[in-house]
Amino acid sequence: MTKKLQGQVAIVTGASSGIGTGVAKALAEAGATVVVNYSSSADKAQAVLTEIRQKGGDGMIIKADVGNEAEVKAMFAETIHQYGTVDILINNAGLQKDAKFHEMTLDQWNHVLNINLTGQFLCAREAIKEFMRRGIVPERSKSAGKIICMSSVHEVIPWAGHANYSASKGGVMMLMKSIAQEYAPLKIRVNSIGPGAIRTPINHAAWQTPESYQSLMKLVPAKRIGEPEDIGGAAVWLASDDSEYVNGITLFVDGGMLLYPGFEDNG
Ligand code: NAD
Repeated sequence: MTKKLQGQVAIVTGASSGIGTGVAKALAEAGATVVVNYSSSADKAQAVLTEIRQKGGDGMIIKADVGNEAEVKAMFAETIHQYGTVDILINNAGLQKDAKFHEMTLDQWNHVLNINLTGQFLCAREAIKEFMRRGIVPERSKSAGKIICMSSVHEVIPWAGHANYSASKGGVMMLMKSIAQEYAPLKIRVNSIGPGAIRTPINHAAWQTPESYQSLMKLVPAKRIGEPEDIGGAAVWLASDDSEYVNGITLFVDGGMLLYPGFEDNG
């Protein structure tokens, strides 16, 4: 059977750990050639690529800071030079710099907005340009290109102590919807995934001890933490023609975190 993403080229930003790694591996298993983007850890990115190759997939690693315009442009140029085009962008790279709001420095604010929001803008803009240049290749996909933005449940759930992070994810939501609306006529699809609590380095404090895990589970009706593979499966679906008529949505993958779990015991 032909794999769902056979012959397609995907760039996954921040793919050397956590959700990005899970998504990169899932896309490769679905047949995509994967660019494993990283900003500092070449060894970890190489290990992800090695695992992909061991399972019969292919790709390369590219170092680029998604908040740096020149580096983002160079990453797309290198990918297109190597593989001819880009079919899928996973706008995943992100970070937190937490602080009480009245103590938050401008550096903490700017750093998070620069990576989480401006980084998604810079990568999406290069992807859209390439999708427009190439157009639809019917043997590969019914769409001219697919962008998947890694948002968060915090695009809708306010988060005390994380104003920079939740503002960045709220921004990602409107960035995603606005580009989806602008380029839908060209058959370019732009959607987000809104993860809940996923077991990665970004939130290790929330799951690493039995006490913290138990406390976290009060927010998760499914009573288990999510794994990067949970996000990988959603990304493959959103990148494939199975979701061809889906455009401009956030697919929450959160074990029900958005279901007001405080009310599960009669409120
Ligand atoms: P993570 O820390 O494991 O991964 C983040 C990745 O982004 C790392 O590989 C890091 O090197 C990379 N990165 C950071 N700055 C970068 C830059 N300037 N350029 C390129 N790459 C950069 O955390 P994660 O949980 O895998 O996070 C991935 C995405 O998922 C983030 O956007 C995060 O906001 C989102 N998310 C995570 C959760 C969760 O529970 N883990 C929940 C909601 C949303």
